[in-house]
Amino acid sequence: MNITIDSDGGQIKSKIVIIGAGISGVATAFLLNKLGYDITILEKKKEPGGSIETVFENGFVFDKGPNSALETTPLIGQIVMELGLTEQLVYANKEANKRYILKNNQLHPLPMSPPAFLKTKLFSPAAKLRLMAEPFIGRSKDGYYQSISEFVTRRLGREFLDYAINPFVAGVYAGNPEELSVKSAFPKLYELEEKYGGLITGTVRSIRERKKRAEKSKQSAKMLSFKDGMQVLPKTIVKHLGNKVKLECEVTSIQKTEKGFQVNFIQNGTQQTIDCNKIISTIPAYIAVDLFSHFDDGLAKHFNEIYYPPVLVLFLVYKKEDIKRPLDGFGFLIPSKEKKSFLGAIWSSVIFPNRSDYDKASFTLFVGGARNPEIRSIDKEILIGKVKKEFEDIMKISGTPELQTYKYWSKAIPQYNIGYIEHERYFDEFEKKNPGIILSGNYRGGISVGDCIKNAEVLCQRIISNL
Ligand SMILES: Cc1cc2nc3c(=O)[nH]c(=O)nc-3n(C[C@H](O)[C@H](O)[C@H](O)COP(=O)(O)OP(=O)(O)OC[C@H]3O[C@@H](n4cnc5c(N)ncnc54)[C@H](O)[C@@H]3O)c2cc1C
Repeated sequence: MNITIDSDGGQIKSKIVIIGAGISGVATAFLLNKLGYDITILEKKKEPGGSIETVFENGFVFDKGPNSALETTPLIGQIVMELGLTEQLVYANKEANKRYILKNNQLHPLPMSPPAFLKTKLFSPAAKLRLMAEPFIGRSKDGYYQSISEFVTRRLGREFLDYAINPFVAGVYAGNPEELSVKSAFPKLYELEEKYGGLITGTVRSIRERKKRAEKSKQSAKMLSFKDGMQVLPKTIVKHLGNKVKLECEVTSIQKTEKGFQVNFIQNGTQQTIDCNKIISTIPAYIAVDLFSHFDDGLAKHFNEIYYPPVLVLFLVYKKEDIKRPLDGFGFLIPSKEKKSFLGAIWSSVIFPNRSDYDKASFTLFVGGARNPEIRSIDKEILIGKVKKEFEDIMKISGTPELQTYKYWSKAIPQYNIGYIEHERYFDEFEKKNPGIILSGNYRGGISVGDCIKNAEVLCQRIISNL
């Protein structure tokens, strides 16, 4: 093996190639580099970030992918500090704590306290009573093959699924609760039942345990971004890593060699190669299929079965004076029962103010996902026209947008659907049979930016203990 000896500690380090400079790739690279590993990142595009992409439109920050991240691990703050990004860091405005759900064309605040829950018109009295029965419901048998929809209906009732979980799942995965596996897509939620016997009891007890580990739940974690948008983070990591990152280098094939691997890539139209001992892939499953399937006969099936629905992200700016409803929250999500053309809207300028003129309000709308994958074949201008009309109606907006722009992701977010465990187990087996290849990225271990960063840390620990 082509192992190099670290000059200062005499520690053994190997040469690692990381494919992809999305958040999974750059966070892994940042941590391994800190530990002294000899790393190179190869990224196909001109800029790092992958799904994290920020542009400036007429002075407005438009995040085409994630608009924020949840600070679920202290590692995020630590990386931000080490990169000298504290000045750029922004936390969500307190006003953004309030979230709305659409029901009968009205926006209802999602109740955040027991008295608010008792008062809300979002759920019927019968649904409220049904929810209170949750602690008395027994455990389910098989989590991996249970959809979120089955799990929630059994524990909390159908109305809670329709008016809380269905829109929530659309907000996180752009997903469908009938198809997503509760244990793979929301492992923490499932754990509450498995470990503590129920969601209400489990929530109370797990809060105490998380406090001890200095971790934050997704519900209590602070929401963050950067003054100049989310792409600041991957861009700054790449700047920090200097010539260890090669942009505009598309990996085209990988071969096993006597000493490890040869990674072939195209840079400026020229074929190049790099030798290494370890490869960390952070590219999406539908691209990894072309690079890794020749190592194992069964792998392609698993990569190909991971479903990435399309999502269109629409950015709109209006004059505040044209908006007749108060802008006092994070935005709203739409249950599928409400039969609208979009999934929900983030009130961007409320969450992160001071990014736009005080007399304007900006919004980010999400369209499509697993709920409406047919957006693939719909004319985008016609679709946007319909979405805008519905949005303006809900928000009581009288004028036309001052700015309108969009990004269409043909394959947006991997869906951890029922049976996903088969893929997860196969990838684990594949790595055991093919030492030196690590399959990472958002189709393993969670899709959120925070999960990708946490996974990078787990991966580094695995690498340290392997060597
Ligand atoms: C519309 C949208 C909204 C989202 N909203 C949120 C949110 O609000 N909060 C949140 O936490 N998460 C959100 N997410 C999810 C989160 O952004 C992603 O799961 C995460 O950024 C994925 O990071 P990754 O590094 O695993 O993969 P990617 O970002 O997909 O990165 C993979 C990288 O690999 C590169 N690549 C591909 N092929 C090759 C090749 N052959 N050679 C070299 N490089 C290659 C790509 O160019 C890319 O840069 C959202 C995602 C989308 C799409």
